[in-house]
Order: sequence, then structure tokens, then C-alpha cells
Amino acid sequence: MSERVVIVGGGIVGLAAAYRLSKRFDVTVLEKEAGVCRHQSGHNSGVLHAGLYYKPGSRKARLAVRGIRQMIEFCRTHSIPHEVCGKIVVATAEEELPRLKTLYERGQQNGLSGLRMLSVEELREIEPHAAGIAAVRVPEEGIADYPAVCNALVGEIDGPVILNAEVTAIRREGSGWRVVSTAGEHSCDRIVTCAGLHSDRVAALTGRPREVRIVPFRGEYYKIRPERQFLVRNLIYPVPDPKFPFLGVHFTRLIHGGVEAGPNAVLALAREGYKKSTIRPADVFDAIAFSGLWRFLAKYPRMCWQELRRSYSRELFCASLQRLVPEIQPGDLTEGGAGVRAQAMSPDGSFVEDFHFVEGAGELHVVNAPSPGATASLAIAEEIDSRLP
Ligand SMILES: Cc1cc2nc3c(=O)[nH]c(=O)nc-3n(C[C@H](O)[C@H](O)[C@H](O)COP(=O)(O)OP(=O)(O)OC[C@H]3O[C@@H](n4cnc5c(N)ncnc54)[C@H](O)[C@@H]3O)c2cc1C
Repeated sequence: MSERVVIVGGGIVGLAAAYRLSKRFDVTVLEKEAGVCRHQSGHNSGVLHAGLYYKPGSRKARLAVRGIRQMIEFCRTHSIPHEVCGKIVVATAEEELPRLKTLYERGQQNGLSGLRMLSVEELREIEPHAAGIAAVRVPEEGIADYPAVCNALVGEIDGPVILNAEVTAIRREGSGWRVVSTAGEHSCDRIVTCAGLHSDRVAALTGRPREVRIVPFRGEYYKIRPERQFLVRNLIYPVPDPKFPFLGVHFTRLIHGGVEAGPNAVLALAREGYKKSTIRPADVFDAIAFSGLWRFLAKYPRMCWQELRRSYSRELFCASLQRLVPEIQPGDLTEGGAGVRAQAMSPDGSFVEDFHFVEGAGELHVVNAPSPGATASLAIAEEIDSRLP
């Protein structure tokens, strides 16, 4: 009989891990919601990232490059809507040019194919309404329907995916584990947790100290009115600010039609705080008791304040977008949805930039899997598989 593995979390990472691990283990997925993909995996930009931004040699670089190819292949073989439409990253000021060049070099080091520095004329041919004094084109990137990927993964997993099963305790039982959930108790030999916005807390259920903490950053979107969608053909991104692990507000064509702008990055007052008004006292106390958050706020007070102002002002949001597409106007924007990023932070207030796992005997916890975690999910699953002997 094969060993039993319980996987906590029915987001794209947990489901990809279950898909992969069910080829050699007896797997069970426990998901607290009434459906899969209800959090980050169902509230993101839907972009296939090829690994342009990430430090060469990092897990993110390695797994994004491998993951995008696997994800496109998975979409093809499962008839999941996707499109490799390419992306452009535009520099709009002189001071961004060295950073754009670094991105281009990183992309090359990471093994992206077809990467090209564009002249202004070439940029205008691809995106006629984009501003910019230089740009990089990433032809391998595109857009995909990640909720459809999650549903296809559920269909491929050889084992149960149990919904409404919130894991509340994980205890040692011999050399294995007893996992207590709201849907019952499960014995297993190994446990893998992929709990997204709760990854630090769920990892701590096996008795590990919480060395890093999840800090939730809400990302709010606007939609572009149909009659103004001609301003964006595909994906237009800024050169990211190196201080911040997020990519900056950008334009994204959606796989099922329409164009979105965003997301910003505002500290959320609840880990699942999709609305400004959602406050969960337990999450607030948890955050304010964490010294890392105070160090972060002390390091970047201006940036946090500006994000907050921009979150409440369509004009300020639009001003950021006008740096990329000057013709866009506040009246072209209508409220979109929001997602909350699970971003791990260290006690010194720095972001954990790379994908981060915590491991022990018979346990593996995916503690940090922010963007490009959806793109890289199949490669993350492969890495998890290789770490379970
Ligand atoms: C605004 C935004 C934009 C993004 N854009 C992109 C993009 O364009 N491209 C890209 O590649 N990536 C993007 N990402 C990142 C990507 O969405 C994530 O990397 C990915 O979805 C992480 O998947 P996950 O399975 O780890 O987490 P999640 O999807 O959050 O899943 C975790 C699951 O664990 C469950 N869970 C938590 N606690 C428990 C418990 N105690 N018991 C049982 N279940 C539990 C939750 O209910 C949830 O379903 C974006 C993210 C955000 C928020």
C-alpha cells in the first residue's frame, strides 16, 4: 500500500501538488472553503509570467521559467482558455532605463526566449497608445484561466478533494500525523501544507515556530469601459520599484474579454479582506504584534501612505495608469474586483522574496508562494515531489 499524504489547501499550488503526488502516494486534499480556488488562485491577474523579474538562480526564476512552459502545455492538453500574447514592460523616465536593462539581462540569464529591447517606434507598433522611452518585449508571456486550471487539476487528482474541511490541528501519531479538520480526522504518513493567506499559521500547527509572518496586501483593480479598451492590446507593465516585491499597477487583457488595470498593494485589515471595510480583529492583532510589520512601516512610511491614498482616489490611481497610457481618463475606469496577496515578511521587516518552504520529518509547508505562483504551480509541485523521498 502506498504512503498517505494529506495536502492542506485547495488553491492552485495545493491542487498541483496533489496532482503530482497522487502519481505515487495516496493523497487527500483538505480545503476549508465550499469550493477550490476561492482565494489567491481565483483572484489574480491571470497572467502567465515567464521569469523576467527574478534573481537568477532563485527558486522563483527557476520555477517560473519551467512552470510557464508546463502551464501552457497543461492548458493546451486540457483545452483551457489561454493565449500567449506577449507582454511589454515600459520605461517612462530616464531613471528607469538602467532598471529596464537589468530586467532584460535577468530575463536572458533566466533563459527566456525571444526577449527583445524595443525602440519607441517598435513599442508603438505593438501598443500604439502606450507611453515610454524604451521597452522590453517578453513574447513567451500571456494570459490564462487559472480557475479552469484548478478545476482541471481536481479532475486529474487520483484521490479525494474534501471541501468545507478547515484544518484546525495537526498532531504527531507514531511517525506520521493526525490531521483534525472540520470535516473529520485523517491519519497520514506525510503532510504538505499550501495554505496561502494562512500558510504561516497552518505550518505552525505541527509545532514549528512562525519564523516569518504572512502580511496581507490587498490588490484592487479597475475595469476599462468597453469603448476605451482599444487603448490596450495585451499586457502593459511598468518597470517595477525594486523596494517593493509587487509589479506595480499594469494593464491586463483578460482571457474571457475585457481589460483590467491594477492591482495596487494596500495593507489589508483581514487576511481575506477583499473589501476596504473588512476588518478581522484577530488578523489585526496578529499583525500589530509582529515587529516585522512595524519595521516595514518605519522603512517605507511614504510608500504605504501613497498606496492608501491611491486606494481611495480614482484620480490618483488613474494618474499612475497615465504614466503607461496617457490617454486613459478617470471616467474610463469602473470598479473591478480585488485579490489579497499572501506575502511573507521576516522579523526585520523585509519581504521574503523567493518561494519559501519549511520542511521537517514527514512535513513540508509552502510558506511563501506569491506571484508568479499560479504560473509556476506545476513546477512548484514538481519541486515538492522531489523533496518528499
Ligand atoms: C492580486 C493578485 C494578483 C496576482 N497575479 C498573478 C498573476 O498574474 N500570475 C501569477 O502567476 N500569479 C499571480 N498572483 C499570485 C498567485 O495568485 C498565487 O501565487 C497563487 O494563487 C498561490 O496559490 P496557493 O494555492 O498557494 O494559495 P491560495 O490560492 O490562496 O490557496 C490557499 C488555499 O488554502 C486554503 N486554506 C487556508 N487555510 C486552511 C486551513 N486551515 N484548512 C484548509 N484549507 C485552508 C484556502 O482556503 C485556500 O483555498 C497574484 C496574486 C494576487 C493576490
